[in-house]
Amino acid sequence: MNDLLLTGGRVIDTANRIDAVADVLIINGKISAVGPEAAARAPAGAERMDVKGLIVCPGLIDMHVHLREPGQAAKETIATGTAAAARGGFTSLVCMPNTSPAIDNSGTVALIHERAAQQGVVNVFITGAITKNLAGEELAPTGSLKRAGVVAITDDGHCVQNNELMRRALEYAKMFELPVMDHCQDYALVTDGVMHEGYWSTALGLRGWPAAGEEMIVARNILLAEATGARVHCQHLSTAGSVRLLREARQRGVSISGEACPHHFVLTDAAVAGSERFWDTDGKGVFGFDLAGNERPTWPAYDTNLKMNPPLRSARDREAILEGLADGTIEVLCSDHAPHCDYEKQVEFDYAPFGITGLETELALALMQLYHTRRLELAELIARFTVAPARLLGLPKGTLTAGADADVTVFDPERDWVFDKQATASKSVNSPFYGWPLKGKTIATIVAGKRVWADDLE
Ligand SMILES: [Zn+2]
Repeated sequence: MNDLLLTGGRVIDTANRIDAVADVLIINGKISAVGPEAAARAPAGAERMDVKGLIVCPGLIDMHVHLREPGQAAKETIATGTAAAARGGFTSLVCMPNTSPAIDNSGTVALIHERAAQQGVVNVFITGAITKNLAGEELAPTGSLKRAGVVAITDDGHCVQNNELMRRALEYAKMFELPVMDHCQDYALVTDGVMHEGYWSTALGLRGWPAAGEEMIVARNILLAEATGARVHCQHLSTAGSVRLLREARQRGVSISGEACPHHFVLTDAAVAGSERFWDTDGKGVFGFDLAGNERPTWPAYDTNLKMNPPLRSARDREAILEGLADGTIEVLCSDHAPHCDYEKQVEFDYAPFGITGLETELALALMQLYHTRRLELAELIARFTVAPARLLGLPKGTLTAGADADVTVFDPERDWVFDKQATASKSVNSPFYGWPLKGKTIATIVAGKRVWADDLE
C-alpha cells in the first residue's frame, strides 16, 4: 500500500504552473490528484501527512553526481550515495561514468541499473562515456550505451581535447538523440593548476587554473553544437566568460545549455587562504547579509575541502554565475557531488584529489543564495532542480501531473539548521560546509509514493 495524502502544503509544480495551497493524493506510487478533489478521493486507509506551512514540489533531480560504484566503494556506494540524495531532498540523480571500470560499455550500465534497483533508495539515471575509458582517444560505443539506457554521454572528470573527435561524438550523439555533456577544461592551458589563477594563487604559491582554460572549451562546444546541431550541455560552469559565451549563443538559438553548483556561487578563491581572509573580503554579505562573528565557520588556509575542478573563482566570476542563474542563461542547479576518503584529502593541497560532497547542502545553499536574496522566485528555483534537468535529459520526471511517478520533495525554505558531520548519509565527509548556519531544509523525500527519508523519522 502506497496511498498517501499530503495535506495543506504549498504545492509548486512549475511545469503545470501550479503555485497554491493544495492537497496531493498518491495512490499506488503514482500522483492521483492535486487540488480540492485529492482529499475527497483519498481511500479510507490512506496515510495522511500534514505538510501545512511547507513546500511540496516534484522530486528534485541532481544531474551531476559521482556515486563511485563500481570500483571506489571506499568513497561512496550506490546505497550511501542515494541515501545522501534522499536526505538532501533528491528523488532522482544522474551518475557520472568515471567509475572503475568506466561506464563505457553496456555491461557496466546493466550492472549499475541492477545494483541501483536493489540498493538505491532514489532513482538512478546513468550517463555513458564519450570515449573509451574516458581516455579521449577513441569513441565509446554510443549506440549500445543508448540501448543500455544511458540518458547522456560525458567524459566528466576529463575533457575530450581533440576537436575532430568531439565533433564526431556530437554527430553520433545526435543520431542516437543523446545530449552530450562536457567538463570544460583545456589541458594545455590548465596544465597542473590546482586553484583559480589570480591574486590568491600567487599569494599562496599554488599553481593557477586560468578561467580561459574553461572558456576555451565552452567556446569550442558552442561552435561544434552549431556546426552539428547536436545538443551540448556544459557542466559545472565557474567563470564570467563562460556565462557570457553561453548567453550570447543561446540568444542566437544554439542548442547549448549549462549548469552551476552551489560552491561556485557561494565561495571564492579567497576561501583557499583561510576563513578569516574569506570573511574579511568576498565573504562579506555573501547571503545578502554579514554573518555575525560567532556564526562564521572557520577553516585553515590550504584546506583541501576547498579544492575542486573547476576551482573556486573570483568574486566577479561568482557574481556572473549568479546573474546567469537569475536571467536563465544557466538552466540547471546541481551538486557535482564528488566524495573522497579522509586519507586522500588529508594531504598537501597540491596532492589532494579535486571534489567535494554536495547532495545534502545544495538545496539550502541554493535557497540562501538565490531565493532568500531575491534573485529567483521559489517556483523558478524549483524548476532548475526539476523540470529543467528532466527536459534536457528526457527524463519522465519533474512534475506532479496526475499519473506521474509519485516522486515528491517536501521542504521548509525557512528552517534554520547546521550541517553536521555526524548526521551525513554519505560515506565521505569532504565538504567545506560543515558547521555552516544554513536556511532551508528537506522535511520529507518521497520516491514512488514511499517516504525514503523524513526529518521526523530521525
Ligand atoms: Zn567535472
